Amino acid sequence: MPNDETFSISVRTAMDQTSPAPQSTVASQHMPGQQVKMSATDLNAYFGKTHALKHVSLQVPANRVLAIIGPSGCGKSTFLRCLNRMHEVAGGTLTGSVTLDGEEVLAYDPVVLRRRVGMVFQKANPFPTMSIFDNVAAGLRLNGVRDKHKLRETVERCLRQAALWDEVKDSLDKSGVSLSGGQQQRLCIARTLAVDPEVVLMDEPASALDPISTAKIEELIYSLKSNYTIVIVTHNMQQAARVSDITAFFYLGELIEVGETKKMFTTPEKKQTEDYITGRFG
Ligand code: ADP
Repeated sequence: MPNDETFSISVRTAMDQTSPAPQSTVASQHMPGQQVKMSATDLNAYFGKTHALKHVSLQVPANRVLAIIGPSGCGKSTFLRCLNRMHEVAGGTLTGSVTLDGEEVLAYDPVVLRRRVGMVFQKANPFPTMSIFDNVAAGLRLNGVRDKHKLRETVERCLRQAALWDEVKDSLDKSGVSLSGGQQQRLCIARTLAVDPEVVLMDEPASALDPISTAKIEELIYSLKSNYTIVIVTHNMQQAARVSDITAFFYLGELIEVGETKKMFTTPEKKQTEDYITGRFG
């Protein structure tokens, strides 16, 4: 269960980093009543000497969609990977704190953590030798589920949740890679949902898809938030505006501004945010 902490966000800008006291927060938001699912505090992430994330403090509200936007190389994917300890797998190191339900993610077994904090990647990656059914059931089987009824039930539920069931229900034995790109991405989402994650991280999940498939994925993201906490990285600002409740803008490894999506796209507080969303750079 999410903890009861009141949801609040504080941001220090690049200029603020030179001032000593954390009280130099220049933008902060309080959203009373919102539960915090995950939280990063003074997070610094490195790839060798590359300082990819700089003093990022950002809370992920439960049962909401948080969009991370910003130009290429600003640390969006790195932030996502810090949430489920994939940053270590990518060869990086970090300092600071990342918590899930108030517990440090480093205290979790990575396998258990990644079951609770699932991930969908930019490029759909169904297991190539497996059928549609087996792709969705793979995680459950890995967790020791053998009961055929339970497997069938979960596969159907997840394919329905991923808005793919009607398209594949008569061909569950076909190879997962026989599907179109958009269908493969929804299959990967179904596979992620099958192990009952609480948080779903999505790294540019629709960037390689056609507009119809993209619309399906966006509808899906929107519908999933009543049951899941979602963090989506996107370079597509219209997409962020359509699917998210909260938007965080990163630039050069720093969190510049975060707030309610509607406000971020209409009356951002920082000039850098405004310049980015109006297309002056990026
Ligand atoms: P974004 O998702 O916003 O495009 P990334 O998080 O991928 O940005 O990258 C942030 C910074 O970290 C960039 O400077 C990038 O070059 C660097 N970086 C990302 N992945 C690696 C890696 N595996 N090895 C070394 N540097 C990396």
